[in-house]
Amino acid sequence: MKQTATFIPTLRETPADAEVRSHQLLLRAGFIRQNTSGIYSFLPLGKRVLQKVETIIRQEMEAANSMEVFLPALQQAELWQETGRWYSYGDELMRLKDRNDREFALGATHEEVITSLLRDEIKSYKKLPLSLFQIQSKFRDEKRPRFGLLRGREFLMKDAYSFHASTESLDEAYMDMMKAYTNIFTRLGLNFRAVIADSGAIGGKDNHEFMVLSEIGEDTIAYSDSSPYAANIEMAEVNVTYNETQDTPKEMEKKETPDQKTISQVAEFLGTSPDQCIKTLVFKADDEFVVVLARGDHDINDVKVKHVANATLIDLATPEEVKELLGCEIGSIGPVNLPDSVRLFADHAVKTIVNGVAGANEDGVHYINVTPEQDFPVESYADLRFIQEGDPSPDGKGTIKFAKGIEVGHIFKLGTTYSEPMNATFLNDQGKAMPYIMGCYGIGVSRVMAAVAEQFQDDSGFTWPNVIAPYEVHIVPVNVKDDVQREMGEELYTLLKSKGYEVLLDDRKERAGVKFADADLIGLPIRITVGKKAAEGVLEVKIRQTGETFEWQQEEIIDRLE
Ligand code: ATP
Ligand code: MG
Ligand code: MG
Ligand code: MG
Repeated sequence: MKQTATFIPTLRETPADAEVRSHQLLLRAGFIRQNTSGIYSFLPLGKRVLQKVETIIRQEMEAANSMEVFLPALQQAELWQETGRWYSYGDELMRLKDRNDREFALGATHEEVITSLLRDEIKSYKKLPLSLFQIQSKFRDEKRPRFGLLRGREFLMKDAYSFHASTESLDEAYMDMMKAYTNIFTRLGLNFRAVIADSGAIGGKDNHEFMVLSEIGEDTIAYSDSSPYAANIEMAEVNVTYNETQDTPKEMEKKETPDQKTISQVAEFLGTSPDQCIKTLVFKADDEFVVVLARGDHDINDVKVKHVANATLIDLATPEEVKELLGCEIGSIGPVNLPDSVRLFADHAVKTIVNGVAGANEDGVHYINVTPEQDFPVESYADLRFIQEGDPSPDGKGTIKFAKGIEVGHIFKLGTTYSEPMNATFLNDQGKAMPYIMGCYGIGVSRVMAAVAEQFQDDSGFTWPNVIAPYEVHIVPVNVKDDVQREMGEELYTLLKSKGYEVLLDDRKERAGVKFADADLIGLPIRITVGKKAAEGVLEVKIRQTGETFEWQQEEIIDRLE
């Protein structure tokens, strides 16, 4: 492409509101523009990068036997009402009405849509398993959109859903996705780790997040320094949504029971303000006590007692009462001393064993025993304490280190969480109607682009790897008013294109300094400068990532590039 024919509005200055490097550079190098908070336009270069990410994803998804579909972004409220998420998803769900006052949501995720699609079509186990994916804009009204593409309100996601007649079949698909994701992020050149995650918003035991290791990551990963063990210690954000996600219409009804305490009631009980209070609720489940910690700034007007399986709220408890009940010092997990980031609990933990359930996102601290497999089993509440770097790894191999990560992908075994309330069933080989067993698998396509951008850059701009660079070669005739330079530039451009290279030709009448600065900023892997030595048939070739330069004869360019 000729630069005069495309649209690459580079900026000299760093935009004031862009906090992280990827965001700054994507703006400065003319890849994206912000429309409003968390909403972006992709300009030609940005669109090309995005497309390359998509291509890699498509190839690996298809290799894993998932087929592409395209589902509606505009989703009728009725679907979300079936699973109860209409009431529980909260403010992140963008809602709107049509001219007849019918309610809709803009797709934040597509479990309901795809489940409803298949329930009318797949009625026999003979048609299972089936795995479908799409790449589409998602809408989430994030509380804090930030870091450019990393946390947008409209962003591109690859989401896949698989449907099975047995858990074994789901297990297989899950492993295949694990492999596909590993291939995708490896091909993209990312420094990543698959970590065991809180099953948070969706439930089920197995779920992994793919984390790109990065200082600006919002998640903290605990990993072993000498084994593959790695887990997210978040237990944050997701949990409110999570418990809400479990809502089925039946549960929605139950919510209205007098057992339920609102956050205001809790605050009143504890003698604090709703904003300040972190509450300790005690549940009794199968004769075991469960402590639930919740914090005030979430919309937990409806702390969903009912969502804790088999649990009944015995009462709100003061720290003293909890201490008595559980026979342990709970000062550190009581209503007052919790780090700000402590949010809610995990109900899946309740299903497994007694758990002191809490989480923390702060540097260097984490409550242990959050989930048996992913954290640190303890014998009793007396053992509850913060986990530190340097603790032994739960798998017995090595010691725990912490790192920051950007969540680029997330895979889940959903089980029948959606198929059950939505009555999406098939007939098994005995002719019995069973709910589909499901898995879901997401990748933040636009977030991946930002994560790659974050990783591949230096002081002067991007250093894109070949697989994702918007073009492979940048031809820069230094002075296009010079006939020799201009013509040699054009010739080379035509030649390289004919050999299948993706080429950008800087045919602008700009000063050399501007051209070089822009070329560094855009960061294509190979730059070919057509300058003074053009008259002698000599070109300067620069490898962007390493900074190496070579002088090559015009005739040898093709051979050398290969
Ligand atoms: P996060 O914890 O960052 O809010 P999530 O757990 O809510 O992400 P999922 O529901 O697991 O996100 O969605 C699948 C993938 O979509 C995530 O792994 C992430 O890569 C991407 N994603 C989620 N929210 C955003 C967003 N606001 N902007 C860009 N990408 C996002
Ligand atoms: Mg989120
Ligand atoms: Mg997450
Ligand atoms: Mg996630």
